Amino acid sequence: AVSAADSVVSSAKKTPTAIPSDSVINLSRGDPTMYQPYWRRMGDKCTVVIPGHDLMSYFSDPGNLCWFLMPELDDAIRRLHRVVGNAVVDDDRYIIVGTGSTQLFQAVLFALSTPQNPDTEPLSVVAAAPFYSVLIVFMEGGSEMGGKGCCRVYYNVFALMEPSYPEETEFLRSGLYKWAGDAYSFDKDGAYVEVVTSPNNPDGTIREAVANREGGKLIHDLAYYWPQYTPITGKADYDIMLFTFSKATGHAGSRIGWAIVKDKQVAAKMVKYIELSSIGVSKEAQLRAAKILEVIAKDCASSGPDKEENFFEYGHRLMSDRWEKLREVVKRNGVFSLPKYPRYFCNFKGKDTDSSPAFAWLKAKDGLNCDNLLREFKIVTRGGPNFGVESDYTRISMLSVDEEFNLFLERLAAIKGTRNGHY
Ligand code: PMP
Repeated sequence: AVSAADSVVSSAKKTPTAIPSDSVINLSRGDPTMYQPYWRRMGDKCTVVIPGHDLMSYFSDPGNLCWFLMPELDDAIRRLHRVVGNAVVDDDRYIIVGTGSTQLFQAVLFALSTPQNPDTEPLSVVAAAPFYSVLIVFMEGGSEMGGKGCCRVYYNVFALMEPSYPEETEFLRSGLYKWAGDAYSFDKDGAYVEVVTSPNNPDGTIREAVANREGGKLIHDLAYYWPQYTPITGKADYDIMLFTFSKATGHAGSRIGWAIVKDKQVAAKMVKYIELSSIGVSKEAQLRAAKILEVIAKDCASSGPDKEENFFEYGHRLMSDRWEKLREVVKRNGVFSLPKYPRYFCNFKGKDTDSSPAFAWLKAKDGLNCDNLLREFKIVTRGGPNFGVESDYTRISMLSVDEEFNLFLERLAAIKGTRNGHY
């Protein structure tokens, strides 16, 4: 049996190894490994060297409200947003760095729910279904895997977590806030927060708040508002916006996210939360993120005939190529359907552009359980019920390495139409 540690180590290897043609393909997580060839091609351009005596203090910028944010990262984040044109980062906006945007989500909930009035109910947290959701898949022995011994590689891996809004809201059983489900059906009185993810995980749609009632605050999770996934139609200018290094560039392992916040008090409370939970954020990770964001911004801003393909051009070319192939397979086998996305003018690319979301939100025709059906073909995905909707939907990561993606297409193409309910 392969242990959890072995499996993690093998997925973290530098050079992708050939995938045995009969192995299980796990596309249930949004691990953005597909960008690795680009960064390998960049060679030493993004290498950061840190001597042993460096970065020893807790403090990065004591005069700044977010005293643990390195000025280099602050500058690189603002510069990149200006170059891409996807968010307003004027000087009066506060940037808060977090250990991934996962920590920042918790920080925002803390900020919006304190100080608590002891006479009031916990703050309700809602999101419109389908919403970003939890991933606890592999039970020991792989009984969930669709049988036929197809789960060897993942044997013994219990709980590969992708934290989610419901999970993150509930896991400490806070008295400050409470998960209150689908924003469409939310009808409670009192204060609430709606999380708006746009483009949305899992279905890639562009979203606005739906629970438009008194007493509501909004958190905009813009993890996928980057040119490789969606046309950039304007500078987002919301009160609280979350971004993550994980999905912007693929460097999920660095665990860097940032919030752009308008209100000083909210920003200060978020800083307090991060102080209390981790006394700041790794400076090594911040420096690496700063370097990589800086290189991208510089490449995007440069022009001329010899100009190399910048990261977002590369990412978009790759993503749209994958989407085109997937749509072709889905069209040919007639068993599934995919959402259609409108084409918009992308300010970054300067032309009309299609969306190519990080996840495919696949629907099985005939009301079949889509996740189970794919598991029979050794493709592990994340079924609709985990996102608050029916089981004929499932979410498939589009961010895996090439070999895995190609194997996925091959297997999907082999699933033919129904004959007496059998595939
Ligand atoms: N928000 C959304 C919508 C996501 O899909 C993810 C990652 N799957 C996150 C936040 C978490 O990002 P991070 O790696 O920065 O914690």
